[in-house]
Amino acid sequence: TKHMGRNGYHFFQPSMNTLAQTQLQLMNDLWLATERKEFRLVYQPKFQAPAGPIIGFEALLRWQHPKRGMLSPDIFLPLAEKTGLIVPLGNWVIDEACRQLSEWREQGNIDWSVAVNLSTLQFEQPSLVQTIMDSLQKHGVPPDTLILEVTETTAMTNPDESVRVLTELTDAGVQASIDDFGTGYSSLLYLKRLPACELKIDRAFVRELSSDGDDATIVSAIIALAKTLNLKVVAEGVETAEQQAFLTELGCNTLQGYLLGRPVTPEIISSQGNTLCQQ
Ligand code: C2E
Ligand code: CA
Ligand code: CA
Ligand code: CA
Repeated sequence: TKHMGRNGYHFFQPSMNTLAQTQLQLMNDLWLATERKEFRLVYQPKFQAPAGPIIGFEALLRWQHPKRGMLSPDIFLPLAEKTGLIVPLGNWVIDEACRQLSEWREQGNIDWSVAVNLSTLQFEQPSLVQTIMDSLQKHGVPPDTLILEVTETTAMTNPDESVRVLTELTDAGVQASIDDFGTGYSSLLYLKRLPACELKIDRAFVRELSSDGDDATIVSAIIALAKTLNLKVVAEGVETAEQQAFLTELGCNTLQGYLLGRPVTPEIISSQGNTLCQQ
């Protein structure tokens, strides 16, 4: 409740005040973080089902906060989106992923792809296609080794425009992936128009696989649908051997999850080399 105190001081509950302060502080830190180069990418391997080889990685953003340690996107992405910082930050992600790709290629890993996540605001930038092409060229990376992960919800925000942008990118050779599939509301007809090469089943469905019969039905249906549309299927959040076996049996092409590999720094990937497959 908002009671004016004697000195007009008690406008918010103390807890509310602290929360607002924390958010303000975080927002301030977030702007500084770019200059201070506190952002990092970690990479989670994607395995050909059931257990390898590694076909590529998904780049996942982390913030090495000076006081709070390594922060996950859940903590700062909503804020970055609200302030618009996600646009330059997202452009940095694309460029850094391309740089990493070229480094891995120089080390002989020419079959690896890297997937980057695009937020809605970033996806809506008219300069996006040029930004991506510039980074690919700057680092001498073949377009088809870069995969853009766009959530079903992002794609549906402006469906016709999404088809246009993704067509432009895929015409240039870049790959597109529909992320968090099953959580949005895209129609079959729309899905058919999207020039994507793969579909990622949302973790929520994979999580329930062994315990909930209904979700097994949904996952089977998603995989069947993807096959009809000639899309590869990636399952994310694979945590148990049971899920791994079941998803493979259902025809999933690619598996990603803690069971096979957690997101790790590029240093760890370089030092482990190909033994990463046997993790
Ligand atoms: P996402 O794209 O769905 O990414 C998968 C998330 O699931 C990652 O969380 C990953 O670490 C986590 N994960 C992977 N395997 C498992 C598993 O077996 N079990 C469980 N419980 N989790 C698993 P993370 O890294 O915290 O990222 C969260 C979300 O933040 C991502 O969800 C993505 O939407 C967003 N994000 C991450 N990096 C970027 C980025 O560079 N740009 C944008 N726009 N969004 C990003
Ligand atoms: Ca993703
Ligand atoms: Ca996802
Ligand atoms: Ca997700």
